[in-house]
Amino acid sequence: MHQSEYFINLEEEYGAHNYHPLDVVLTKGQGVWVYDVEGNRYLDCLSAYSALNQGHNHPRIRQAMIDQLDRLTLTSRAFRNDKLGLLYKKLSDMTGYEMSLPMNSGAEAVETAIKVARKWAYVKKGIERYQAEILVAEGNFHGRTTTIISFTSTEKYKHDFGPFTPGFKMVKFGDVDSIQNAITKNTAAILIEPIQGESGIIIPPTGYLKAVEELCRANEILLIADEIQTGLGRTGKLFACEHEAVRPDIMVIGKALSGGFYPVSAILADKSILGIIQPGEHGSTFGGNPLGAAVAVAALEVIEEENLVENSRILGEYMKDYLEEVPQKNILDIRGKGLFVGVELKHELGGVRRFAEVLQKKGILVKETHVHTLRLAPPLIINQETLDWMLPILRQVLLMD
Ligand SMILES: *Cc1c(COP(=O)(O)O)cnc(C)c1O
Repeated sequence: MHQSEYFINLEEEYGAHNYHPLDVVLTKGQGVWVYDVEGNRYLDCLSAYSALNQGHNHPRIRQAMIDQLDRLTLTSRAFRNDKLGLLYKKLSDMTGYEMSLPMNSGAEAVETAIKVARKWAYVKKGIERYQAEILVAEGNFHGRTTTIISFTSTEKYKHDFGPFTPGFKMVKFGDVDSIQNAITKNTAAILIEPIQGESGIIIPPTGYLKAVEELCRANEILLIADEIQTGLGRTGKLFACEHEAVRPDIMVIGKALSGGFYPVSAILADKSILGIIQPGEHGSTFGGNPLGAAVAVAALEVIEEENLVENSRILGEYMKDYLEEVPQKNILDIRGKGLFVGVELKHELGGVRRFAEVLQKKGILVKETHVHTLRLAPPLIINQETLDWMLPILRQVLLMD
C-alpha cells in the first residue's frame, strides 16, 4: 500500500478534488487488464466511461499514433493536413452521414451541435433570431461546460455555477407526450441520449426513440443524439439509435473515437445541416489535428475489423443472462444493451460504492453510477473466457451481506 499512498497523497494535496476515485493507482494497461503500482491486476469494467471500447494500448491504434508522432502532430486548421480528410471519409463511409466536424472533448462536440442547431433554426427553419429552444431530457448528461450544465437536472452539476445559459427546456425522459407538450414554433431541436448512461443506464420504453424521431419530422425539429457513451459499438449496435432504426439529424460522438489514446470527438450530419457552417464561425486549435485524426481512423478500423459491435451484442446478452440468474437478494433491477449493463441494487443498501470496493479487492474495477447502480462496461474486445472468470466473482459480491 506504500507506493499507492504516496501517489494518492500527491493527488489529494495538489489537485482539485473534483472526483472521488477508488483508491487504486494504475500504472499500466493492456487489453482488458490494468495493473496498479503494487503489481495487482484488475479487469477494467468501466473502460473510461466507454472511451476504451478497443481496450488499453491496442497495438494497431498504438502503431498508428507512433507513426503519426514521427511525422506531424499539429498544424491548426489554418493549414490542411493529409490525415483529416481521411477521417472525414472514414466517418462518412462507416456511418452514412455526409459530413462531420471534429473537436476534442465530448462536451465540445455537444456545444458544437447546439451551435449548429441554433444557426439551422435561424437560417433554415426561420425561427425568429435568438428565440430558438432546444428540448433536453430530465436526467441528461452531456458534459460540464457552463452552457451544458445550464440544462442539467442534477443539482450538484450546476449548484453555485450560474448564471445559466437560456434556450433549453426540460422534458421527461421516455415520455413522448412530454415532448409533444413542450414543442412550440420556436423549437429547434431535441438533444437526447438514447440510453442515459450517467443517470444509471436508463433505457427508455421500446418505441420511444422512434416516436421522438416521428415527432421531430412532423414538426421540423432536429433530432440530436448524444452517443458519446452509447455509440461506436457499446450497446451491440454501431449506434444505440439503430436499435429502433432511428437516424438522428445530428449524431454526437467522442470517447471511443479516441481508442483511449488521444481525445477526439465529432458531430456527424448531412450537408443540408452541417453545410451551413461558414469559415470563422466555429473552430478549435486542436480539433481535427493529424495526430488525432490518425488515431481516430485506426480506432474506427479496429471496431470494424475486430467485429466489436457483434462481440458487444453477443457477450452483452451472455452477461445479462448470467446476472438475471443471480438470486435477487440485493438486486433491484438489471438493465442493459450489449456490454452496457447496469445492476441497480436495493436503495436501503445505501449505495453501491462498498460493493465496488470489494470487487476492487477481488480484481475487478467498476464504478457506481448515480449512487445505486453498478455499471458493467468492459472493453468490447473482452472474450467469453474472461467473462467466465469475472461473472462468478461478481455473483458472489452481489450476494454479500
Ligand atoms: C462523457 C460524456 C459526455 C462528455 O464528454 P467529455 O469528453 O467528458 O467532455 C457527453 N455526453 C455523454 C453522453 C457522455 O457520456
